Amino acid sequence: MAILLGDVYVDACEVYGRMPTDALMESWSSVLAGYSAQEVKQAFLAWQANDEINLFTGRTYGSMMPAPSELKALVVRARREAQAKLRSDFKYCGDCVNGLLVVLQPGLDGRQERAFSICHCVSHLSQQERAAGSGRSAGV
Ligand SMILES: [Zn+2]
Repeated sequence: MAILLGDVYVDACEVYGRMPTDALMESWSSVLAGYSAQEVKQAFLAWQANDEINLFTGRTYGSMMPAPSELKALVVRARREAQAKLRSDFKYCGDCVNGLLVVLQPGLDGRQERAFSICHCVSHLSQQERAAGSGRSAGV
């Protein structure tokens, strides 16, 4: 079953011993609109695991309830990292030359001429990058 943003919010309140409020739920909804609850949950887990010390409070970041904007920053970063990983893991399929296929096709004068098209391996990568950038799973 898909989780909802409200579930993540209520869980966060429970973890940090806060009473959920409508005002803060609305703030989460507006700041995190456009991101899936699953992504926000991942961001929340990453937040909790952050043991870096906040210099203002002297406590770890993960020990304090995150503001929705802090979760949003983590979601955005996770999307960027997913895209960067796709790109760094990418290998051309081997049928193309750096993503280009050379095809011979009849030209205006009837002679064969060379034309180029983008290989499927590159268009597949672009699709996956778009999916990662929108938070969808890249199972294309
Ligand atoms: Zn290719």
